[in-house]
Amino acid sequence: MPEPDLCEISVPNRIGFRFPGLDVPKSELPKGLVREVLPLPELYEVDVVRRYTRLSQLNHAIDTGYYPLGSCTMKYNPKINEDMARQPGFAAVHPLQPIQSVQGCLALMYDLQEWLKEIGGFAGVTLQPAAGAQGELTGILIIRAYHKDRGDHKRTKILIPDSAHGTNPATSAMSGMTVVEIKSDERGNVDLEALREQCDDTLAGIMLTNPNTLGLFDEHLEEVIHMVHEAGGLVYGDGANMNALLGILRPGDIGIDVLHYNLHKTFSTPHGGGGPGSGPVGVRSHLVDFLPSPIVTITDEGDEETPPIYGFYSPPKSIGRVKSFHGHFGMMVRAYTYMLMHGKEGLRKISEHAVLNANYLLARLRHVYHVPYDRICMHEFVAEGHWEDAPEIRALDISKRLMDFGFHPPTNYFPLIVHEALMIEPTETESKQTLDAFADALITIAQEARTNPEILKTAPHRTPVGRVDEVKAAKDLILSCGVSVEEEE
Ligand SMILES: *Cc1c(COP(=O)(O)O)cnc(C)c1O
Repeated sequence: MPEPDLCEISVPNRIGFRFPGLDVPKSELPKGLVREVLPLPELYEVDVVRRYTRLSQLNHAIDTGYYPLGSCTMKYNPKINEDMARQPGFAAVHPLQPIQSVQGCLALMYDLQEWLKEIGGFAGVTLQPAAGAQGELTGILIIRAYHKDRGDHKRTKILIPDSAHGTNPATSAMSGMTVVEIKSDERGNVDLEALREQCDDTLAGIMLTNPNTLGLFDEHLEEVIHMVHEAGGLVYGDGANMNALLGILRPGDIGIDVLHYNLHKTFSTPHGGGGPGSGPVGVRSHLVDFLPSPIVTITDEGDEETPPIYGFYSPPKSIGRVKSFHGHFGMMVRAYTYMLMHGKEGLRKISEHAVLNANYLLARLRHVYHVPYDRICMHEFVAEGHWEDAPEIRALDISKRLMDFGFHPPTNYFPLIVHEALMIEPTETESKQTLDAFADALITIAQEARTNPEILKTAPHRTPVGRVDEVKAAKDLILSCGVSVEEEE
């Protein structure tokens, strides 16, 4: 049944709400403040409830289907995380409560800091940043502060490989740095020659994503880090891909100076739809003094009878606050729960299985889809959504057709260095059956591209909304009953 238009089912003077009784003196509003005509649909409460309940079911979600969106680590979010985040002692606290009354929350934050230090090989961690991108900003500001503190004012150049996420150059530019792109070599690594040319005394640092956004572990990682350090620069690690490394490689151990985690990717806190994320940042010892303030610490160790007392401290050369209060605490509770449920060994298994799942899918698809950088991948891989014998088909058509099979499309057109990119990240939470069903769908679609390209070109066919004109949808937003923004203006 097509979704009824609320304006169409509206009946004049039908009322679905009741205002509470007036508890202040009645007064007239100034003229001109109230619109004479407000074209809102007039409906019963039940019509509104049904409408929004149905709408809430139209979106694809991790709880309704497979979501192989590369670089995003759309893993299943265990429901125990939600139970814990809803405990009144966590959910009902206020950041301005006296410190004595939130000791449990501070203990959780302290442990989470310690665990993230341990997982990444770092000396200090801030939990403040609200997302990966804000973690990047925090990290680059720390790098800038470090050079300034040493009187090294010339160092304003940040190197960014051409496979990087768009947030990397954006962050660097926002921090007042000059961005220089470094190309990749034919195996998908940082091109060492291109890097060598940029290693001079203006180098502030490099932003490395490892495994990179091709899903590949850089084969010269240690050499890259060494070259940047030799030139006096620092190494920023984009930790969005930590799902490949947990318990296997600690970025701090190999010389990555500062790195952000995405709790909403690696540590299973929900994301998508622009909801709250969390992007803690870890640093090696020479950078701990620059961390955002405040950081949770133990102010009194206690003894056998009395538990430790937690409080805050401000690092001496702190770059300041990057977020109001202490960041997104609810996300911290979820990530903490996830780590506690898995334990040390379990965390390593997560990455082992994430890498295994990606390589399984790669093995099933590499003969059907061209994989330009075809070597053992980490937790994701990038294929081309294009064939020479089906020239009119693009990655977009494949993605749209996948929706007819009930799957969320992979990431499209990123990284930019792969033509018609389809970036696939299965994650560890999917069963072999799901992976096989997904591979089968992609194989069927590859056949259809040759035998019935029209079905791809006009897909999706089984979703509530068919193929949309994406440019028009972005340029001419329709935000209210049939009135586009353009017309309203
Ligand atoms: C997701 C992602 C980011 C940005 O993280 P947000 O939490 O979305 O701000 C940065 N780099 C890479 C490689 C990512 O996948």
